[in-house]
Amino acid sequence: MGLVAEMADEVCVMYMGRVVEYGQIRDIFENPSHPYTQALLKSVPVLGIKEDAELVTIPGSTPDPADLGPGCEFADRCADCMDRCREKRIHAYEISEGHWARCLKYDHFKEVD
Ligand code: SF4
Repeated sequence: MGLVAEMADEVCVMYMGRVVEYGQIRDIFENPSHPYTQALLKSVPVLGIKEDAELVTIPGSTPDPADLGPGCEFADRCADCMDRCREKRIHAYEISEGHWARCLKYDHFKEVD
């Protein structure tokens, strides 16, 4: 992620082959919004961290692509999962101009996909 920050202006965060968050690099690092992006950023090792410090990991594992349910692919690993997350395809919502996340936590924003 550090390398990405150096080289890119925009970032697409993907999970199970689907873009789950998109935005300018600053949006993604300063206001990560999709729970997967948030977990991903917490799991990045930081230089100078104490030797015995535990690296944060994302619980669970990726689902079987041949056995995906109708809802959010990240639902089984998401601390914010709600019942409705498993019901149907999840759309993307624009959190701010040019920054969107595919997550029902933001369904009060404009749908963009
Ligand atoms: S749609 Fe629901 S399960 Fe999926 S990332 Fe958002 S809160 Fe979590």
